[in-house]
Amino acid sequence: MNSRKQFSDFNLSKEVGKAIEDMGFEEPSPIQALAIPLIQAGRDVTAQAQTGTGKTAAFGIPIIEKIDPSRRNVQAIVLCPTRELAIQIAEEFSNLLVHMPRIIVLPVYGGQPIDRQLRALRQGVHIVIGTPGRIMDHLERRTLVLSDVATVVLDEADQMLDMGFRDDIELILKQVPQTRQTLLFSATMPQPIIDISKRFQNKPEFVRVQYAELTVPQTEQSYIEVKDREKLDALCRVIDLSDPQLAIIFCNTKRRVEELAGKVKARGYRAEELHGDMKQSQRDRVMGGFRKGQIDILIATDVAARGIDVEDVDMVINFDVPQDVEYYVHRIGRTGRAGKSGKAVTFVAPRDFTKLREIEHYAKIKIPKIPIPSQSDVAKNRTLSMMEKVRETIREGGLEIYIRIVEDETEGDLTSIEIAAALIKLQMDQGSTESVEKRDEIAFDDTGAEAGMVRFFLGVGRDHKVQPKDIVGAIAGETGIPGKAIGAIRILDSYSFVEIPKEYASDVYTIMKERTIRNQPTKIEPAQGRRT
Ligand code: ADP
Ligand code: MG
Repeated sequence: MNSRKQFSDFNLSKEVGKAIEDMGFEEPSPIQALAIPLIQAGRDVTAQAQTGTGKTAAFGIPIIEKIDPSRRNVQAIVLCPTRELAIQIAEEFSNLLVHMPRIIVLPVYGGQPIDRQLRALRQGVHIVIGTPGRIMDHLERRTLVLSDVATVVLDEADQMLDMGFRDDIELILKQVPQTRQTLLFSATMPQPIIDISKRFQNKPEFVRVQYAELTVPQTEQSYIEVKDREKLDALCRVIDLSDPQLAIIFCNTKRRVEELAGKVKARGYRAEELHGDMKQSQRDRVMGGFRKGQIDILIATDVAARGIDVEDVDMVINFDVPQDVEYYVHRIGRTGRAGKSGKAVTFVAPRDFTKLREIEHYAKIKIPKIPIPSQSDVAKNRTLSMMEKVRETIREGGLEIYIRIVEDETEGDLTSIEIAAALIKLQMDQGSTESVEKRDEIAFDDTGAEAGMVRFFLGVGRDHKVQPKDIVGAIAGETGIPGKAIGAIRILDSYSFVEIPKEYASDVYTIMKERTIRNQPTKIEPAQGRRT
């Protein structure tokens, strides 16, 4: 007897049912089982469940079923905190819509040329998924009209509030008819979310899925204390020492994934990257290679790694301590599956210790510290594993011809031990790391910032209607750094200043150079030191 809900219990259309099957979903996740019937019944719903529990489809499925494709107007909007998420949610919707090609979904987010979005909007779309900032832009330009919207989703509502999007959300909701259905999804339910629910929802139903098992008992966890600039070498040592078959390395931002992947590949490892901006076909290729064992190391962001389902991952390395405590649990859950053992190593920079303690507290675990493996640890380990292979080769036999050549060649002036050691050394040198050129770090020496911070100049200001929340929203949204980490902001008529913690400065600089704030190029530059 099976009392669990099935997708067939939801009276779904043939098309959606088939899409769900194509996607390989066998049964609704717990949050889907709870939320879908309520949403179908037209209720306002507030739903809380940890990341990776299928919240997107929980609102996606009932929304899609409600769209009338014969009307060419926006009937649902999904607000989410970052472009990565907007893209990811739009992808999940597109997958659900493969058999309903008449329903059009459009992701809108900053950093993408606005013309493309304008063209798509003019042609008529049914579902818009985007960050509050960019949706506001479209509302101001009157390129997006919300008067026919029947459903609004606030996804990752906690993170949106964290990033200062509250006012934008409010302004957007004002333009949606009162009769709408409002759905709120969040991993956590702090008071501000409850306030939002009170303010914008009509007799909401609360559904919540408790955390399942928080840690994976089969996973052996440890951490290594390491400075940022030592991370790459430490990573190579850890990998060389443990020699994992399949490893996932997590970084906190897409940018860091790209950077690290380049360096790891340059050192000769069979590694590939996976992040939210990649096309589905690229991801499929990477995941295929990983499953087949053609790639040993996957370097990924949290968002991209969601939904990765690969057995036999024997090692997870947190190259960065995750921003969100739940991500930690989620990351290490990638290994030690199905009763197999796995290892999880977390790199902890001095600034990350509070986060580490928070993780230990939350997951009720004590994570032991281990040293950075030394070169001789690595050499010893590899020698041992090579000796094992040598023994096996001797057992297999067929060495006579080689023995004769070596005997003739050495004429007894070398001991067999010497020869063996030299062969091992040769083998090691071949596989060992070639030196890699140092990353050209930008100097942010004297920018007039508070200690530990870097002050940046931005070529946008009051004249461009820029407010502090726009700066926080843009930087946090584009780079993935926590909104709270952003320091003092000063806005003048035609320019502004913002302070960023040193450790994020180079990421923020390189990423924001290519982005916009309120549709203006940021013109970001390190600020000049203030003369006193
Ligand atoms: P959340 O928003 O809760 O963090 P997502 O909606 O991003 O989680 O879903 C995480 C992954 O799980 C996605 O790859 C999604 O396709 C997959 N997924 C969602 N629902 C199911 C299901 N019922 N069965 C299997 N996989 C699912
Ligand atoms: Mg989600």
